[in-house]
Amino acid sequence: MAIKTLEDLLQEGVSGRGVLVRSDLNVPLDEQGAITDPGRIIASVPTLKALSDAGAKVVVTAHLGRPKGGPDPKFSLAPVAAALGEQLGRHVQLAGDVVGTDALARAEGLTDGDVLLLENIRFDTRETSKDDAERGKLAKALVELVGDDGAFVSDGFGVVHRKQASVYDVATLLPHYAGTLVAAEVKVLEQLTSSTDRPYAVVLGGSKVSDKLAVIESLAQRADSLLIGGGMCFTFLAAQGFSVGSSLLEESMVDTCRTLLDTYADVLHLPVDVVVADKFAADATAEVVAADRIPDDRMGLDIGPGTVQRFTTLLSNARTVFWNGPMGVFEFASFAAGTKGVAEAIIAATGKGGFSVVGGGDSAAAVRQLGLPDDGFSHISTGGGASLEYLEGKKLPGLEVLES
Ligand code: ADP
Ligand code: MG
Repeated sequence: MAIKTLEDLLQEGVSGRGVLVRSDLNVPLDEQGAITDPGRIIASVPTLKALSDAGAKVVVTAHLGRPKGGPDPKFSLAPVAAALGEQLGRHVQLAGDVVGTDALARAEGLTDGDVLLLENIRFDTRETSKDDAERGKLAKALVELVGDDGAFVSDGFGVVHRKQASVYDVATLLPHYAGTLVAAEVKVLEQLTSSTDRPYAVVLGGSKVSDKLAVIESLAQRADSLLIGGGMCFTFLAAQGFSVGSSLLEESMVDTCRTLLDTYADVLHLPVDVVVADKFAADATAEVVAADRIPDDRMGLDIGPGTVQRFTTLLSNARTVFWNGPMGVFEFASFAAGTKGVAEAIIAATGKGGFSVVGGGDSAAAVRQLGLPDDGFSHISTGGGASLEYLEGKKLPGLEVLES
């Protein structure tokens, strides 16, 4: 069965109805608690605005960070409520609790078009419980806030791969719909998996091979070329028999990487040179070396210029590109050139009529931080883990539950 969307709900009518929305408002904060990148708040606005404009009583639930074991003021959604109010152009109330007396009183007091944000859903440990009954109880409490004729809109794409109370269990209790963000993300991922224009190139970087090995394996079967950079390339270089100095290395993955290199020799491409450093720091001394000449006392923090050139050539005729994971430690200016160069190559290759998708929180941050044009890419995904699991062919609980 097809997934119902926000448009369907609006057609059914929401005026005066309670609508629970799961948004992804998990924005990065600095030490003072100020929001450093409001991307996810901005991406959540269309769904919330449409519901509010249509006269729904909107109850929003979301998480922030990883609070351990209960309420923690450091992870309060207060700054998010303020920023969301600004973006929406109307006041957003913040409940003092998740599903407690304050949330209930505020939910009961809502009038048509009002927006109430519940406090960080992860303050309630039942949200992420492995116990179905525990999660079910929290889901029921959430449903009570929107009443018997309520509805649920799933719009937090970044969490749809999680079987959590506010993502999965609530959808089993209420009529459910995909919000505009979830619908848009799914459409892009469908396009990447079903009707891919070729050549199809995949660029993977970031820090952990173990996280991304499954996606490498499944994408290597589908893509025409798969370019590997970032911290994960060193485990592959080690699998080729090169020493990698003090670079990131996942020993336990070396054999698996060797098998992948043997199996997909025509598809996988590794760096030919790397930028090494004497320490992991912004002011480290940077030096370019061949990929098979990494000194023992150096760590690779970026792909080298020769690799950027080679990757640019490999990308130049691509019609479809999926990119996840920075090519280097772009947070340090001396090690950002690889990420910037490859991003520019993707924009150049697919900018005119091709299809390019950036997935991953840090990759999206890199695009903004390095001053690359957002609109150089067809789509910048808000969810890293969720988009990778989708591309791996895994079933995402938060999407599956919307289908029934
Ligand atoms: P995304 O969030 O886009 O999925 P990841 O979270 O997998 O990406 O990885 C991002 C991180 O990888 C960045 O913080 C970056 O500094 C780091 N990284 C990239 N290359 C290296 C490297 N050579 N050594 C150590 N860390 C690296
Ligand atoms: Mg990340």
